[in-house]
Amino acid sequence: MPVPFADLQLQYQNIKAQIDGAIAAVIRDNAFIRGPYVDAFEREFASAVDIKHCVSCANGTDALYLAMAALKVKPGDEVITTAHSWISTSAMITHAGGTVVFADTDGTTFTIDPAAVEAAITPRTVGIIPVHLYGQPADMDAIMAIARKHKLWVIEDCAQAHLARYKGQQIGTFGTAATYSFYPGKNLGAMGDAGAVVTNDGALAEHMTMLARHGGLIKHQHHIEGINSRLDGMQAAILSAKLPHLTEWTKARQDAAKIYDAGLNQIEDVVVPSIAAGRTHVYHLYTIQHPRRDALAVHLNANGVQTAINYPTALPFLAAYIRFRHRPEQFPNAYRDQSRILSLPMFGEITSDQQIEVIDLIRTF
Ligand SMILES: *Cc1c(COP(=O)(O)O)cnc(C)c1O
Repeated sequence: MPVPFADLQLQYQNIKAQIDGAIAAVIRDNAFIRGPYVDAFEREFASAVDIKHCVSCANGTDALYLAMAALKVKPGDEVITTAHSWISTSAMITHAGGTVVFADTDGTTFTIDPAAVEAAITPRTVGIIPVHLYGQPADMDAIMAIARKHKLWVIEDCAQAHLARYKGQQIGTFGTAATYSFYPGKNLGAMGDAGAVVTNDGALAEHMTMLARHGGLIKHQHHIEGINSRLDGMQAAILSAKLPHLTEWTKARQDAAKIYDAGLNQIEDVVVPSIAAGRTHVYHLYTIQHPRRDALAVHLNANGVQTAINYPTALPFLAAYIRFRHRPEQFPNAYRDQSRILSLPMFGEITSDQQIEVIDLIRTF
């Protein structure tokens, strides 16, 4: 029995009437750009993640750019982010005009190590971007304490962590702003590219809205030079149709994670995800560690189980950052993990039979 890494088709079939209806309504109303469907999704999403303002945009990468541009990152400004993430997190620091400074992960949760953040601070540091990687919140108490002490802004990259909580509080509500991706495979995914940046700061929200809409809120009144980063009506309507299911889908991922945990825990050499106290993981990815990761992946793939490596090269060691001449010993945890991590099939609709198949194949490896 083949086990896919994710199954978007199955998710669609389960809510087909709602999705088809949403798409038809946008076409009927000619509401392709801006309009009522985008406004409605912004309101609904803000409410779902316990925040005042949601500024929708074209994707999660633009969301990071918009937040930093609105916070007026300028040449010479240093922004500290994690050594272990998708490249958008660090690339947008550069595109916003700042300098990327990487900090290592903590060695157990795959999220940024607050001690490494503290050690990376210089008089030029302006902000910190923690990433709630794989769906597990970063250590927000420690990160916010560092930010307050050094008067830094914090942008939470929530692209993989919709509805995750830290000590009972939703992620994305700790920092100055927070960014989301609704890439199709994310826990809340559109049927194309989509993103948002959220904040409780009304002035910041307005500035980000202007930046995303050619620099103005009213047609032909351009107060600043902006970009064109819009969520389109079709994606907004699809996201609104999916949003009411997000809690149940998240619960299904968490239940599936428990099955993996129980089945894989006893297998020698397998390290299951470790969750720090007070953090609620939403399992965008279920990522194990194994000393013979590549051979294990070949074994699973040969037997019909799709896997992924998120990510095969830690950010500091990518060709894009060769200018920094980073050395492995500067980021020992991220460096070690890049050759050990393996993401297993994880999606709300995964069946226990599929999971047992994966677990048995790992046991026989
Ligand atoms: C997906 C992702 C992004 C970028 O989102 P896009 O919508 O693909 O541009 C940024 N950061 C992280 C951690 C992500 O996983």
